[in-house]
Amino acid sequence: MAKIAINIATGSLQQAEMIVGIDLGTTNSLVAIIHPESRQPVALKEHNSSSLVPSVVHFDEFGNATVGDVAKAYLETDPQNTIFSAKRLMGKSYRDLKENADFFTYKVIDDDTDSLVKVQVGERFYSPIDLSSFILRELKQRAEHILKTPVTRAVITVPAYFNDAQRQATRDAGKLAGLDVLRIVNEPTAASLAYGLGLHKEEEKTIAVYDLGGGTFDISILHISNGIFEVLSTNGDTYLGGDDLDRAIVQYWMQEAGIIQDDLKLNKELAQGLRLRAEEAKKTLSSSDQYETEWNGDRLSISREKFESLILPLVNKTIGCCRNALKDAGLSPDKIDTIVMVGGSTRVPLVKKMVSDFFGKPVNDSVNPDEVVALGAAVQADILAGNNKEFLLLDITPLSLGIETMGGLMDVLIPRNAKIPTKAGRQYTTQKDGQGDMRIAVYQGERDLVKDNRKLAEFSLKGIPAMPAGLPKVEVSFLINADGILMVKAKELRSGVEQEIEVKPQYGLTDAEVEKMLLDSITHAKDDMQSRALVEARTEGEQILDVTEKFIAKNNGLLSKEELTATATAMQALQLALTMEDKNLIHTKIEELNEVTRPFAERAMDAAISGALKGKAIM
Ligand code: AMP
Repeated sequence: MAKIAINIATGSLQQAEMIVGIDLGTTNSLVAIIHPESRQPVALKEHNSSSLVPSVVHFDEFGNATVGDVAKAYLETDPQNTIFSAKRLMGKSYRDLKENADFFTYKVIDDDTDSLVKVQVGERFYSPIDLSSFILRELKQRAEHILKTPVTRAVITVPAYFNDAQRQATRDAGKLAGLDVLRIVNEPTAASLAYGLGLHKEEEKTIAVYDLGGGTFDISILHISNGIFEVLSTNGDTYLGGDDLDRAIVQYWMQEAGIIQDDLKLNKELAQGLRLRAEEAKKTLSSSDQYETEWNGDRLSISREKFESLILPLVNKTIGCCRNALKDAGLSPDKIDTIVMVGGSTRVPLVKKMVSDFFGKPVNDSVNPDEVVALGAAVQADILAGNNKEFLLLDITPLSLGIETMGGLMDVLIPRNAKIPTKAGRQYTTQKDGQGDMRIAVYQGERDLVKDNRKLAEFSLKGIPAMPAGLPKVEVSFLINADGILMVKAKELRSGVEQEIEVKPQYGLTDAEVEKMLLDSITHAKDDMQSRALVEARTEGEQILDVTEKFIAKNNGLLSKEELTATATAMQALQLALTMEDKNLIHTKIEELNEVTRPFAERAMDAAISGALKGKAIM
């Protein structure tokens, strides 16, 4: 029985469980949902407050953590105990961070090894996973407080360039915060979803997502088709963002008003005041032409024109990254269909203008750039909740993937629930002498026989040079990239012939279908085991018959008449057993045939070896 709760915020009845979308940002984080009535994504906020929760954690002397605005207030007054930008530490070792060690005002343990970093606060040590979990717990509590319902499941976004370790760290942080992380989604993918991109099956588009936040810049080029997002390239600068725009203004004012650097160093409050005014100036100049303020008895002012001249080199730097990203994707700017703007700093008019000029078309900026990623995560959460049945964007394999082997058996290469991206490979060989083609049939499902699973694709590896059966080495490899696209490659290792196809494995299966396939596999587990054993016995029997037959044809003269008759009788008995549904009988008959042929097994082996050598000579 699903619990029913009344949602105070919306006044509606709703199911007790809601899957939330979370943008776990470097500077700010937030949580969003699909409003149960309007069906629109909304960022959650308390009355009259911002939806943004600063990604800052402060620890008091007892190790109690506070998160968000309250913690941010300690950045200046208690820097050693106030942790910001924990996201930059995710999945990193001290060696990775060394270059930018100055950036962190708190103590990052310097062990100069490849092991993962920790942060020291007083006597305590925290991993980046711990730190992120504090932020996630705050978001969870905030959502529960607003929705008046438990929140235990979430979709969390990460930068497209996050590697496996960083994605796993994010998942672990979620778990630690009491959240079941149903999906890790790339931030640019989420931003696109928030604009409704990728929500129509037939849609095919190339999208540039330009994300200029407080401290980082990312550009991602995505291709979307059939509801699947593929990251073509990413570029950016992990130390370039709105803070740099603020600094440009601070430096300008220092010059204009003759402010001495050392004075600021001595008076942190004064320095902080100047920085806050610079940020305020920047924001004001997004909608006005002029900004004026008073600071420490000085009148400070700046015009939009001046501001733009100061930040031009910084914006140009981001355009350079866009150029590189396009180059890596092998595209020219006109090949981009849609540009999506993300991050508070894209509110700066010059940024919008330069990005739009570069790509030669207007940018999409109608969704709040601070919220767009979380809103898209909520769209994804809603899809996962089954409210948008048409879509299933996956980051684990819901069903096993494998190929058909002898006798119609399913040979699993990537098991169900494998995290993607992932890869796997296995060697196979031919069944017949001189076999030039090998059929690779790709299936999805949990059953032992491929006929009970779902066929995804089939292709032939052609041009295998003639060799005796068993000699070619065909390596079949499966690779699923981060977007769920499966590449299947078959390569004959001796000759180097290869063939590759692209499969979209999960697309087209609804949650219900996946569930049914899983249930079937459980219901039929016993039958499947039996039929697998039978198929295996039959395959073995057939192979033995084949080998024996060949041997006799080639070496007729080597065997005595008695040997020939005994072999023929045993072969017949096995042949007959193969037509029956009794694996034990097959095994018995195999054993009996082996018994008869054992005396000349050695001769058979010699023959096989010389055959093999002949095979090599052909190549
Ligand atoms: P984010 O990391 O996406 O939350 O980005 C926050 C950054 O956006 C900060 O550097 C803010 O100063 C900046 N920002 C917020 N609002 C504006 C605005 N109206 N104009 C320019 N920058 C802004």
